[in-house]
Amino acid sequence: MSSESVKTFASLETPGYVGFANLPNQVHRKSVKKGFEFTLMVVGESGLGKSTLVNSLFLTDLYPNRKIPDAIDKTYKTVGLEASTVEIEERGVKLRLTVVDTPGFGDAINNTDSFKAIIQYIDDQFERFLRDESGLNRRNILDNRVHCCFYFISPFGHGMKPLDIEFMKQLHNKVNIVPVIAKADVLTKKEIQKLKKRIMEEIEANGIKIYGLPDCDSDEDEDYKEQVRQLKEAVPFAVCGSNTLLEARGKKVRGRLYPWGVVEVENPEHCDFIKLRSMLITHMQDLQEVTQEVHYENYRSERLAKGAPVPKRTTSLPDQDKSQTQHEKDRILQEKEAELRRMQDMLAKMQAQMQQQPQ
Ligand code: GDP
Repeated sequence: MSSESVKTFASLETPGYVGFANLPNQVHRKSVKKGFEFTLMVVGESGLGKSTLVNSLFLTDLYPNRKIPDAIDKTYKTVGLEASTVEIEERGVKLRLTVVDTPGFGDAINNTDSFKAIIQYIDDQFERFLRDESGLNRRNILDNRVHCCFYFISPFGHGMKPLDIEFMKQLHNKVNIVPVIAKADVLTKKEIQKLKKRIMEEIEANGIKIYGLPDCDSDEDEDYKEQVRQLKEAVPFAVCGSNTLLEARGKKVRGRLYPWGVVEVENPEHCDFIKLRSMLITHMQDLQEVTQEVHYENYRSERLAKGAPVPKRTTSLPDQDKSQTQHEKDRILQEKEAELRRMQDMLAKMQAQMQQQPQ
C-alpha cells in the first residue's frame, strides 16, 4: 500500500459509519486531549487483500466525510515494510493512526527474511519506546509500538498453513494477533463456519495466543454485552474488502460486483467486516493496554534476561497521571527486574564454577 493510495481513498465518501467519535467514551480524558496513537500491522501471504481491506477499513470508512489536511505520509521502507501515518482530528479528538503494511510472504521458498523483517520492526518500536521512556524528554514520546496485528489466512486452504502456524508462534508474544479469513466472498456460509472452526482448533492445538476480547463487567449494559459476545463468536473474522462504490438496493455501497450480484463489504449478512471494525474501535484502548502491560513488559524482561543494559525507568508512562496504580506497577516491575538480576548473577556464578571443575 503506498502513501499515494492513502490520499486517494481518503477522499471517497460514504454516509453512515461507526466513526472514531466513539473513542472518547472509552479513552482516558488526558489521552483525548493529547491525542490517541494507534498502530495496526497487517500480515499474511501476498495477494490476500491486505491493502484493500486496510484502505476500506480506515481511510474510507473511519473518516468518510473529511479531507485530511494535516496528513503526514511517512514511509519506513526497510526490506519492504511500509508505514503510513495519518493524523486526523474529529470533534476535538486527535487520532494518529499508523498502518504498517508488510511484505507479503509465501511467494518465496524461504520466508525467513520476511519473518525476520516483521519481527525486527516490532522489536525496533519497543526498543525505541524503551529508550525514549528513559530519556529526558519523556513528555513527548511518540508511541509507535504495534498495538494490533491482523493476520490474514487464505480462504482457499482447509485451515492454516504450517507457515501461518510457525509465524503466529513467533509473533504471539510480541503483538496482539487478530486472525482474519481473507476474501470471505469466495466461500459459502457453511464453508466459512467450517473454516472458522478448523482455524480455532488449530490455534488451540498449537498453543497460539491470539488477542482475547476482555470479559464484560457485570454492570455493563446488555447491548454492549451482546455486542462483545457476538464479536467473540465471530473470531476469526471472515472479511472482504473493496474500494469501489456500487449501487445496490438503491443505495451506494462499497462492494464487489460479480456476474451474479454484489457482495457488500459493510453488510453483516455478507461478511464480518463491520464486526472487525467495531472490534478495533471499541477495543483500541484495551489493545494498547495489553501492548503496554504484556508485550512491552515481555520485551523489557527478555532484554534484561539477555543481560543487556536496560535503561532505568525513572517515572511512569509519559503524560499519564502519576496515579497510585502506576506507582504500584512500577514497584512490582522494579522487584521483577531485581529478581531477574539476582538470577542472572546466580547463573553467572554457576557457569564460572562449572568452568573451574576438572573435565
Ligand atoms: P495484498 O497483496 O494482500 O495487499 O492484496 P491486495 O489488496 O493488493 O489485493 C490483491 C487482489 O485481490 C486484488 O486484485 C484485489 O482486487 C483482490 N481482492 C482484495 N480484497 C478482496 C476480497 O475481499 N475478495 C476478493 N475476491 N478479492 C479481493
